Amino acid sequence: MFMHVEIIYPAGFCYGVSHALNLVYETRKEHPSTPIVILGELVHNEIVSKELKAQNIETIKLDESLEENLQKLDKSTIIFFTAHGHPKDYDELIANLGFKSIDAICPSVKANNERIKNSLDPKKDTIYIGKSNHPETLGALSIDEDILLYDVKTKEMKDKANHRKAIVFAQTTLGEDTYLDAIETLKKKYASFDIAPRACQEMMKREFAVKNIPPTYDLIYVVGSKNSSNANELKMIALNEHPQSLVKLITSKDDIVLEDLKDKKNVALVSATSSPLKAIEEIKQYLENL
Ligand code: SF4
Repeated sequence: MFMHVEIIYPAGFCYGVSHALNLVYETRKEHPSTPIVILGELVHNEIVSKELKAQNIETIKLDESLEENLQKLDKSTIIFFTAHGHPKDYDELIANLGFKSIDAICPSVKANNERIKNSLDPKKDTIYIGKSNHPETLGALSIDEDILLYDVKTKEMKDKANHRKAIVFAQTTLGEDTYLDAIETLKKKYASFDIAPRACQEMMKREFAVKNIPPTYDLIYVVGSKNSSNANELKMIALNEHPQSLVKLITSKDDIVLEDLKDKKNVALVSATSSPLKAIEEIKQYLENL
């Protein structure tokens, strides 16, 4: 079966994910026998999660039993905060329990949060466009209780507008169409409306690359995890832009269904920001050797 297989660049980890992983692996090297625990998934990718586990780096869920689970940990444990940011009351919780913590927040998410903090104005609504339960959204909303959420899933403001003026920020991994759709809806609600620049270009570059895949590609694999926000966004964009192609979201070559390859000549491999390049190259090699 001959197929032309092309990796669509940018591919592999974005710089925020690389930064977080380097930090955690360096810490493991410096402290080979100290327990290391990450609060929530460091990045949304099963392959990365397995590699972390192999280095004895555990992850605990951000649910209602968080405090109880933290209390069970050895006091020498190093706690990691993820690339997405985290609600600010976690800092107090970790400090009160006596743990050392390291923040692997992506520099772009950090800069976005700083901008939100510095632009708070009692005469304006500060609005955050994001997915309601995403850790990045929870981190941004924790900056101030008056920040309003526009939820991209329900396409609604979760809270009531208080002013006629507003300033708008957004979650970094939103696709451009999702973002612009939210802006259009919000604009109608306010007399005056400032839009903060988007904090990260990574998603925009990948979105642009997906939109520009030539129509000759009859199969598009978006490589990423099913619970990755940007992998799902990239899949939606590929489905909308390339209705003539088969579009599938896969994490590794093990998810490939041979039936999908029937009569396919050109395959494009699109990478989510949390997908290891080696997983994408492995898929390419596998398809080329079929
Ligand atoms: S997508 Fe952008 S903001 Fe999000 S982790 Fe990657 S570099 Fe940072």
